[in-house]
Amino acid sequence: MTRDKKRKAAVRATQAATGERYVRAARASAGPVNGPVDGKTDGPERGRVESVFALRELLGECATLPPVEVDWGWDPDFGGGPDVFYSQLLGAAIPFGTVLELAGQLAREGRGVELCLEALSPLGSAVVSAGQRRFNLIISQDSVYELCGKPRCSSTPEDELIPWCREHLAECTPDALVAMAEDWGYAQSDGSDDDLTARGGAEEAVALIRAAVTQGVYERVLAKLLDACFDSEDVIDERAFWDAERALAIRQAIERERLRLEQAAAAEYRRIQKETGACAVCGKGFRFGIDMAVPAQYCSPGCVPPPPATAVPDPEPW
Ligand SMILES: [Zn+2]
Ligand SMILES: [Zn+2]
Repeated sequence: MTRDKKRKAAVRATQAATGERYVRAARASAGPVNGPVDGKTDGPERGRVESVFALRELLGECATLPPVEVDWGWDPDFGGGPDVFYSQLLGAAIPFGTVLELAGQLAREGRGVELCLEALSPLGSAVVSAGQRRFNLIISQDSVYELCGKPRCSSTPEDELIPWCREHLAECTPDALVAMAEDWGYAQSDGSDDDLTARGGAEEAVALIRAAVTQGVYERVLAKLLDACFDSEDVIDERAFWDAERALAIRQAIERERLRLEQAAAAEYRRIQKETGACAVCGKGFRFGIDMAVPAQYCSPGCVPPPPATAVPDPEPW
């Protein structure tokens, strides 16, 4: 059993024992996913000193510090802002509710998770990262929303299990894309009960497929998505012995989804080649036809650069 299969099996076992949805169990057991690799080091936002602290320290401030008055800069007749305290860790006033909301979003990571302050706009918002997840803490409201995992990106992620925006998802390593496709697919199948139509047709699957076309890993991502969202071929074969109609329905649902994703992949391949106009390495025009084994922005296997040396090794402790 490979380490990855072991992790998936462990997630399935946890899910069976606790009744948790796959998405929760997977997040609890997963290490960070290999993110976009571009060799750049991302330091703190300009004008800021990076501050690192544990969630429990911020919760400690939230539980013990008194509310403070701040000038929100608007007419008080329009109503006050949320109740805030002055956080020494953030170096700014922050609503109690915003910190509690962040704690909720990081419930699975635990109180000890390390937060890094990436950017701060006093009385506006603060961006903090927790591993490869990033959050925008809103200071004028009791609210938090998740951001793409790429430092300084202000887009929202595709999904809880696909923590990157469309642009940065396309920069993830092939192995990371395959792993995300599998995790997202299991969660999709888990969340749809027995409704086969709900397992296909999702925009998130198209996002993963588009990124796979950019990385030349379309076949692997497609196979993982279909296996995880529906059933693998051997499971369907087994089912066919005692429920032939259901087995047929699953096969039909898989073929429908395969066709949809094939069309999305071909459209993305053509879009990239039309937009770039020529091979990113040799400058030659693209040949007629589609070769999904080669990332769409290169003309042939010979032009595909080797994977960057800065690629993060698989961090999972299995
Ligand atoms: Zn992004
Ligand atoms: Zn070329």
